[in-house]
Amino acid sequence: MKLNRFFKLAAAALAFVSCSTSPKVAPAIPQDKEIEAKIEKILKKMTLEEKIGQMTQVTVTAVANGADLTAAGDSIIRTYKVGSILNTPGDIAQRPEDYNKLIKELNRISMEEMGIPCLYGLDHIHGTSYVLGGVLFPQEIGIAATFNREHAYNMGKVTAYESRAANVPWTFSPTMDLGRNPAWPRMWESFGEDAYVNAAMAVAEVRGMQGDDPNHVGPYNIAACAKHFMGYGVPVTGQDRTPSSIAASELREKHFEPFKEAMQAGALSIMVNSASNNGMPFHCNTELLTQWVKEELNWDGMIVTDWADIANLYTRERVASSLKEAVKLSINAGIDMSMVPYDCQFAIDLKELVEEGEVAMSRVDDAVRRVLRLKFRLGLFDQPDTVLEDYPEFASEAHAKLAYEAALESEVLLKNNGILPLRKDLNILVTGPNAHSIRTMNGGWSYTWQGHGASIPEFTDKYNTIYEALDQKFDNVTYVPGVEYDLMTANWKFDEATSIKEAVAAARKSDVIIACIGENTYCETPGNDTDINLSANQTELVKALAATGRPIILVLNEGRPRVIRDIEPLATAIVDILLPGNYGADALATLLSGEANFSGKLPFTYPKYTNKFAVYDYKPSENQGTMAGVYNYNAVMDVQWPFGYGLSYTTFAYSNMAVSQTSFGADDVLKVTVDVTNTGAVAGKESVLLYSSDMYASSTPDVRRLRAFDKVYLEPGETKTVELEVTAKDIAFVNYYGKWTLEAGDFALSVGDQSLMVNCTETILWNEPNID
Ligand code: BGC
Repeated sequence: MKLNRFFKLAAAALAFVSCSTSPKVAPAIPQDKEIEAKIEKILKKMTLEEKIGQMTQVTVTAVANGADLTAAGDSIIRTYKVGSILNTPGDIAQRPEDYNKLIKELNRISMEEMGIPCLYGLDHIHGTSYVLGGVLFPQEIGIAATFNREHAYNMGKVTAYESRAANVPWTFSPTMDLGRNPAWPRMWESFGEDAYVNAAMAVAEVRGMQGDDPNHVGPYNIAACAKHFMGYGVPVTGQDRTPSSIAASELREKHFEPFKEAMQAGALSIMVNSASNNGMPFHCNTELLTQWVKEELNWDGMIVTDWADIANLYTRERVASSLKEAVKLSINAGIDMSMVPYDCQFAIDLKELVEEGEVAMSRVDDAVRRVLRLKFRLGLFDQPDTVLEDYPEFASEAHAKLAYEAALESEVLLKNNGILPLRKDLNILVTGPNAHSIRTMNGGWSYTWQGHGASIPEFTDKYNTIYEALDQKFDNVTYVPGVEYDLMTANWKFDEATSIKEAVAAARKSDVIIACIGENTYCETPGNDTDINLSANQTELVKALAATGRPIILVLNEGRPRVIRDIEPLATAIVDILLPGNYGADALATLLSGEANFSGKLPFTYPKYTNKFAVYDYKPSENQGTMAGVYNYNAVMDVQWPFGYGLSYTTFAYSNMAVSQTSFGADDVLKVTVDVTNTGAVAGKESVLLYSSDMYASSTPDVRRLRAFDKVYLEPGETKTVELEVTAKDIAFVNYYGKWTLEAGDFALSVGDQSLMVNCTETILWNEPNID
């Protein structure tokens, strides 16, 4: 073994010396010559002010009163030639007709003043959440839990169609931040902790949103904006917009990968991470924005800042000593559009900087080309506006069905001591602060930024809460809240023990208790918390209910995993429904009744302790046995539930794992097959996850990495052979020096309880881009 390691290190060292920069890759989207010619023609005629205007994005509240454009707004757009507007008017969801009217007016002014249509963008991160009546899917964390790309694709497609129905051509989604720190309040916005899952789901969602030809996005599709570039999900303290300290190797290998995949799949824009890494704010990181994205990847899409993040280089990050210097740093680093968002000092400063020679005209032209390219690709020059009447499927039953089906597969059964499925004739007590709320089904970015708009009856009255859905499905259901949130305001941390005694009394009269607990909704920095234990009131409620001796089913409804170590043993069954959207309660009732089977799996590691967060791709030293000798340096990976965990009403057996070749070189593709059999009595879906483990490597390897997944439906007794592919480059890693590295040696491949060894016969190192 030692000899093997010596040769590998020597080979790696040699290869490191001889490796060279890879040539530029072909553009992800082959450019349309006609579009490029039109861009050049317009660019030639544009004044500097007009160019800078295209780089300026203003929030709608600065130009409109509700959904009505103001005279001041008209003047801002004309004075600064503003090219893009974002956000929902009045900070609350609007009717599609109101968007139609407002955006039509913005386009009219823009065409009149600049001859260029406006680019309107909304945060539609789980369906058309800022358009009244729009269909809401589970949040991305739930889509990830389905381990089924179809749901990401459907969510993208429905979001695109319904956004266009409201005349909105652009959305700030998908989010692919790698939720690797459960304290972080935006964990639920991404596809969980794993790079591969984030990449796979984001690619599917981008295709759903943009259609198959990103050069010609049709009237039923919109432009995606992959965010937040990158490494946003791992702030050291867990608090939003605070620093991360990601190593160069991990940045490339894990955080860049999903973005790279999405950009290669045609994502037309990206948004930048608001924070800093190792002292360098992302908004002025030339290496990442220009070198990695625009040069190495040869990506010709548009880079937009996050909210006020150029100004933040001065006011928060303090890498610039004035706003003007912040503008210079960020634009020179590669930013194409500034989400200013309220005032246009950015435009004044940038103009001066160009005139002073501090920002080159060629940089401005590059940015404007990218903005115009996006507008052309969206077809906005030919057809700036869409109207609701052309979108008969807006909020249709067919769309709602897709959201419901996604919710069904997103809810994760974590424990079941035989009580589920539930008999219909039992006396059921439904309790807990999440039992009778649509708001908590949806999470943030739902009708309002913080999600509290979902408590306004006109928005969500037609959807079922958990209590309502269970009441419709089962014969005898009683509801007593026990603990309640303040559902009407953004004060999400508050909960109150209003009726624990009453809940306990009702529990005594029932056969089973369904306790719906977790979190109220929040978003971004207001969602910061210093303690991710379940709240004291909710813990007390569960303990008091348990004292009755009645069986308890815990329903966890939460954006990040709340630590429940103390009460977990008190539960007979546990389901984590995450944030399943407007149809999540119906899905839960169907699953609890056994009319449908659970198939969700955790896309993150569920922590057991607040001082010990973990991810599934940890290093071997984090889980070590006892050492021989006087000193014990052991380490224990003790989590509540591991990544990929999720139960079903049936059982699946894996057998006959095989691989197309056991020894492989750098250009080989391994085809792995495995038989999956439904060994239980009911039909079910199983997500089949393939992992690789590098046994020894010149950089400490991760214990395992997910490399492929697929989901299969199996009738009782049925067997299907699942084939999954892994390329040699898929199992490479980025070494300490930032080089992609494939090393000769042994790798274990595993699926379910099956595993086999394969051997890589060559060592090669290369630079980005790691594209096959
Ligand atoms: C968030 C982004 C969002 C943007 C526009 C920011 O505060 O970080 O995710 O897209 O606002 O609403």
